[in-house]
Amino acid sequence: MSSNSKYDPLTVLNLGERLSKVPQIVEKVGDKFTEWDVKEVGDGNLNLVFIVKSEIGSVIVKQALPYVRLVGDSWPLSLSRSFFEYHALIRQDRRDPGKVPKVYYFNEEQAIIVMEYLSPHTILRGKLINGEKVNGLAVSLGEFCARTLFRGSDLAMVTSDLKSDAALFLGNVEIMQITEDLVFTDPYFDADRNNHTEPLDPIVQKLRSDVAMKIEVQNMFKKYISHGETMLHGDLHSGSVMCTEAETKIIDPEFCSYGPMGFDIGMLTANFLMSYFSQPAHRKSDELDDYQNWILEVIKQVFDTFEKEFQSLWVSERDGILFPSSLFEDQGQTSEAGLKKTLMNIWNDALGFCGIEMHRRLLSLAHNADFELIDDLAFKASLEARNLMMGRELILNRSSVKNAKELILMAEKFNKENLL
Ligand code: ADP
Ligand code: MG
Repeated sequence: MSSNSKYDPLTVLNLGERLSKVPQIVEKVGDKFTEWDVKEVGDGNLNLVFIVKSEIGSVIVKQALPYVRLVGDSWPLSLSRSFFEYHALIRQDRRDPGKVPKVYYFNEEQAIIVMEYLSPHTILRGKLINGEKVNGLAVSLGEFCARTLFRGSDLAMVTSDLKSDAALFLGNVEIMQITEDLVFTDPYFDADRNNHTEPLDPIVQKLRSDVAMKIEVQNMFKKYISHGETMLHGDLHSGSVMCTEAETKIIDPEFCSYGPMGFDIGMLTANFLMSYFSQPAHRKSDELDDYQNWILEVIKQVFDTFEKEFQSLWVSERDGILFPSSLFEDQGQTSEAGLKKTLMNIWNDALGFCGIEMHRRLLSLAHNADFELIDDLAFKASLEARNLMMGRELILNRSSVKNAKELILMAEKFNKENLL
């Protein structure tokens, strides 16, 4: 495919002809495109995703559309997000090798990324709804967060490289604006594209009139837009994680930007908590406790792993401009208190972002299947209410939650409450 041909969305019918001359694709699936099995599987909100299979092998072809797929062409969106996703994927693969799909080919004009087809992996959110456990899930996710956050930051990078990347990702402006609106702003007023479960009305009204909480949300929002600490995945929820029983991979970093260290791990935690609160609708009573406890254990292990790995990188790879060993170890002094303070800041930020994500997934445009699959609206709302009120508690009181154990106790407390 010519690299300067005009953008044209792929279809199941024309994909083979258009891609069968690209050497990197031919290498994986051969050039007999009439024999390729092509399926469109995009279940996401934004892009076209095709699985291409042949006798020789398989690839995923992901192409951006010039609008938001969930809404339609009334909401135009720049194709350049594909460029940023590509740049994020290759950096993540360097920083935590093997955790993201390998990129085989990228075409900027067509906004196409051709990458490794993860199989038999399935989306984690579906596994959580089905009650499946994944071995090693928490360790994989904790390490991924620690490695990508540390290695993309001023703790590890040469300052010129970091500034060049920060400038590059600052270009992902339309995508960041979606996060700015849908995550940080819309949940807290009656925005046009919002929706929520009707019986939640009294709680929603309470949240939207809670000025102290809205001010804390603005403080977290300020961190998201102005604390460019590291390269974020930007959309690290259970729909961006694909697993087998024992292997975990991370996909879809098109929301990447430079931002605060606690953002990804906070969003991830929120998605585990939403799964936790929704479980009474998905499990029989004899399985419920065991599975809910497993989710809480995963949350704790993600943070434990994150801290352990971050600490190990602090010792072995602290080669950037922040906390240089010339100021500490070389002077016979320890930087340990600096590490502790850094981890504490990440933890507190993560809890704030966690609370906001717990709100926006129930109040703003994009909701989660965990709750959306519950047909009984009164039951759904009673579970969602626990999630909303815990989100508020985290936003307001995040600095008094000392560790993951306390976070889990808080979740268990809200899980017993009848709030409607
Ligand atoms: P969007 O950006 O539109 O949300 P995603 O990157 O999340 O798109 O992909 C949509 C769906 O396509 C995923 O939920 C997953 O089922 C499938 N998919 C995406 N990338 C891969 C991959 N590398 N291997 C296997 N399946 C994938
Ligand atoms: Mg996406």
